Amino acid sequence: MSAKRDFYEILGVSKTASADEIKKAYRKVAMQFHPDRNPGDKAAEEKFKEAAEAYEVLSDADKRAQYDRFGHAAFGPGRGGGGHPGGMNMDDIFSQFGDIFGDDIFGSFFGGGARGGRGQGRARGSRGSDLRVKIKLNYEEIAKGATKTIKVKKYVGCQTCGGSGAKDKGSMQTCGTCGGSGQVRRVQNTFLGQMQTVTTCPTCNGEGTTITAKCGSCKGEGRVFGEETVTINIPAGVQEGMEMRVEGKGNAGERGGYAGDLRVLIEEEAHAELHRDGLNVAYELHISFPDAVFGTEVQVPTIDGKAKIKIPPGTQSGKIFRLKGKGFPSVQSYEKGDQLIHVNIWTPQHVSSEEKAMLEKMNASNNFKPQPDKNTKSFFQKVKEMFE
Ligand SMILES: [Zn+2]
Ligand SMILES: [Zn+2]
Repeated sequence: MSAKRDFYEILGVSKTASADEIKKAYRKVAMQFHPDRNPGDKAAEEKFKEAAEAYEVLSDADKRAQYDRFGHAAFGPGRGGGGHPGGMNMDDIFSQFGDIFGDDIFGSFFGGGARGGRGQGRARGSRGSDLRVKIKLNYEEIAKGATKTIKVKKYVGCQTCGGSGAKDKGSMQTCGTCGGSGQVRRVQNTFLGQMQTVTTCPTCNGEGTTITAKCGSCKGEGRVFGEETVTINIPAGVQEGMEMRVEGKGNAGERGGYAGDLRVLIEEEAHAELHRDGLNVAYELHISFPDAVFGTEVQVPTIDGKAKIKIPPGTQSGKIFRLKGKGFPSVQSYEKGDQLIHVNIWTPQHVSSEEKAMLEKMNASNNFKPQPDKNTKSFFQKVKEMFE
């Protein structure tokens, strides 16, 4: 391992530099060696990390004082002087960036676009577009959650050039217009004096590099049209019309830019017998008049197999039974709906002459005359109560 370079030297500042000077110097060095500006360049990445490490120490008054006294030994093993900063990974550095420069500056500096926030500011070319797919689920799948594997036709990263769009390493050059920063500064004379404006470099479109020879497979785009198999985990309880976003599974970006998202629209497949109402499931049960009088046991479908329910003797048409917890789970809470079973007494459409005689005899009995009492609730009341 080569000797560690002096932190002041890395940032190119004097030992007496102010905090502000150190910050400015770090920004300059970080810009120069930022991975977005130096794709695939290991040496630049090392320099970028080195600068982050130097800044971490020199920006902290205590650590800087220790470093001034003991040098790198201040943070060597066993010294416990505020921890060794050498273990910083790229994510740490990127998130530190946001803290130092603010997301705005960070985003505009690196051309990161909408998602160029902390830890993600690595877009090179332009971002790929989102893709939409529809996924149809039946009630059972919605109740349990489902894993769907689908093939998506879309732009994928070019394998030949690794997404760079360049024919080979030698045909990628730092942009001559902006020197790799992706931005150009213009000084304008206004009545207020000279004003400096910063705009995206028109030569490289902010990418910081230009390609002299394009990759033959992707014509320099860094992506090709293809297909990807995507596995989508759908949580239990989703509903028709909901949209899920699978990050980074949309079209690949150009020249290493972010991929778009895959947006999954949920569709519900209608069930032959059950009807969804929010978290609840409704079922229309039809029983014969004698069964309603004598009582019976029936099997009803649920979203989780069959269930048996007892119909007590003397059950009125319109009665609603509730199977607690047999509805859909909520997608955002632990709540679960119920299954509501609505009893309908089946009236035959045609009767034989014997049946007719039988029914007429029944109808003559006072016992068959409707006798709803004050306590008999209306259908609307019952429904209201059920859903409360
Ligand atoms: Zn290519
Ligand atoms: Zn440029």
